[in-house]
Amino acid sequence: MSIQNVAIIGLGLLGGSIGLAIKERAPEIATTGFDASDTVRKRARKRGLVSHVADTAGEAVSNADLVILCVPVGAMGEAAASLADALPSNAIISDVGSSKESVAIALSEVLPDHTIIPAHPVAGTEQSGPDAGFATLFADRWCILTPAEDADEAAVASLSEFWEKLGSKIEIMDAKHHDLVLAVTSHIPHLIAYTIVGTASDLEDVTRSEVIKYSAGGFRDFTRIAASDPVMWRDVFLNNKSAVLEMLGRFSEDLTALQRAIRSGDGETLHELFSRTRAIRRSIIEQGQDDAAPDFGREH
Ligand code: NAP
Repeated sequence: MSIQNVAIIGLGLLGGSIGLAIKERAPEIATTGFDASDTVRKRARKRGLVSHVADTAGEAVSNADLVILCVPVGAMGEAAASLADALPSNAIISDVGSSKESVAIALSEVLPDHTIIPAHPVAGTEQSGPDAGFATLFADRWCILTPAEDADEAAVASLSEFWEKLGSKIEIMDAKHHDLVLAVTSHIPHLIAYTIVGTASDLEDVTRSEVIKYSAGGFRDFTRIAASDPVMWRDVFLNNKSAVLEMLGRFSEDLTALQRAIRSGDGETLHELFSRTRAIRRSIIEQGQDDAAPDFGREH
């Protein structure tokens, strides 16, 4: 089944980008959208994020064959409940949440008789809201689908085809494994950035103006990540608790080992680690997941 009518619930960075990507890359697909915020709905109309911005979630989904929930992971259940009564019985329900196991549980509790195929486009920025979206967000980025073992194969194929139209590459994964992988590639890096920026702003013997003035030494790259949406990230940590805590345990052990190496003057350990990490950066560039330009392409 080819997707023809998509309803997007939540018209911030992700929802807006999906609407704009459809408009640019798959204009044959009709889009409707809804956001709980009146202000966001007004901006979405003005920017033309979707063809029709509805005033209720029910109105947005009443003719949809695919509904994508683009709200914070802690709000997925509530968003699904708000449209349950108006949802066509054959519609596929999906989402873009950054953690997958808790979202799958929340959606299946609210919509037990519907086809639910959770998904996570691994693409984003530190911006949020209806002005943040752009049509190329998903180009050459992975979109991970986490269908249940007994999921409808035709629905998985339709959703994969939909994301491919928006430029994504597809990976199918078990939800639990997704949560572990993303804990280490995304959630822990955000936690570290929030911590280091918080620590620097709490220092007593180094002033805040010194931290800002000399931020090019590395700090400012953490501040980009630490500027990410507080609601979204609060929900990610509360909803991916066990995977994050497991990876955080591993991280703390490695940090302690580094502390020991520095204290004991063990340069060999430091050099060996820093050489391995440099190779990982090279692989990311080789696989087209970042730009090779020095200093992230900043102009000097
Ligand atoms: P966003 O820009 O803040 O947009 C979310 C929108 O959903 C907001 O306008 C919010 O309105 C609205 N909303 C909240 N509860 C709602 C409800 N029950 N019904 C309808 N609308 C509701 O957030 P985002 O960055 O697009 O993130 C959306 C989802 O994508 C999250 O689950 C996140 O984990 C996932 N994701 C994010 C990124 C990223 O880099 N940002 C990447 C991949 C996946 P209010 O602001 O008024 O609450």
